[in-house]
Amino acid sequence: MKILVTGGAGYIGSHVVKALGEKGATVLVYDDLSKGHRDAVLYGELVVGDLADQALLARTLRAFKPDAVMHFAAFIAVGESVREPVKYYCNNTANTLNLLRGMLENGINKFIFSSTAAVYGSPGKALITETEPLKPINPYGHSKVFVEKALEDMSASQGLRYVSLRYFNAAGADPEARIGERHQPETHLIPLALKTAKGERKSLEIYGADYPTPDGTCLRDYIHVDDLAEAHLISLDHLSGRGKSEVFNCGYGHGYSVREVIDTARKVTGKDFTVENIQRRPGDSPVLVADSSRLKKALNWNPKYDDLEYIIKTAWEWEKKQ
Ligand code: UDP
Repeated sequence: MKILVTGGAGYIGSHVVKALGEKGATVLVYDDLSKGHRDAVLYGELVVGDLADQALLARTLRAFKPDAVMHFAAFIAVGESVREPVKYYCNNTANTLNLLRGMLENGINKFIFSSTAAVYGSPGKALITETEPLKPINPYGHSKVFVEKALEDMSASQGLRYVSLRYFNAAGADPEARIGERHQPETHLIPLALKTAKGERKSLEIYGADYPTPDGTCLRDYIHVDDLAEAHLISLDHLSGRGKSEVFNCGYGHGYSVREVIDTARKVTGKDFTVENIQRRPGDSPVLVADSSRLKKALNWNPKYDDLEYIIKTAWEWEKKQ
């Protein structure tokens, strides 16, 4: 099995590359290293390239002839997407369309897409199912909805078969701490909490403590990145077995507040770091928690690391090495 993995040097992509490599797949990573890291690619070859470079992309697809493409390369910061929307539409939407066109031109019809809980916006439900209307509240979410629509249309008439995985909050790291979350700049809660625990930052800011949630801070569904990686592998098996196009939520079905994450980070690290309440971050939804029963039923997804303390422990082991 030959798999092209765009963004395979990034956080989630590199964990999927690890899982593919461990299963014996032949992996080619296509990554411009604008966010990714060469040393995060544990298996396969790396082509350093931009998805906007259509000539390089076409040459790569023609030469490698992948059986399927997994597409991680994208920008992911909600706050930045509000400030610089065009950056998100160009990279996340337009470049994905370049990739899809290149695939069709080369007869490649299996695609696994990194979508996001941000497609739902702020539905105000305790648990979100895939049938919830897509009403993003930030450009990041919109940039992914446009792709999901294109996938639906291409699947209906152009022979594409895809699985779109709507990630809730990917977190944690490889249990052996070989790879983990390393964004520059870091914007995500768990790595920022751990950097504060390490003394790299003076304090951790809570973006809003006046949300309509039990403790006033936002609730998110934190899913260990290796469970997320497994969702990709079973999606690949599904498409390889001639399965039809599907959309799946990826989360555990329970939300933790920002304060609960901070308390767990304090417990895991043994450090009582400083926290400050500041104003809300534009584009944030108060509650995003997945109903993932569709993925469990359809593909027998069996997550193994549904434990916030374990997730933060793996992230901490990784963070200590940085
Ligand atoms: N958050 C926070 N302080 C930070 C970073 C994040 O309070 O320094 C909050 C953020 O507002 C959201 C939650 O933590 O409610 C998770 O944010 P993150 O950026 O990690 O992931 P997102 O949900 O935006 O994908």
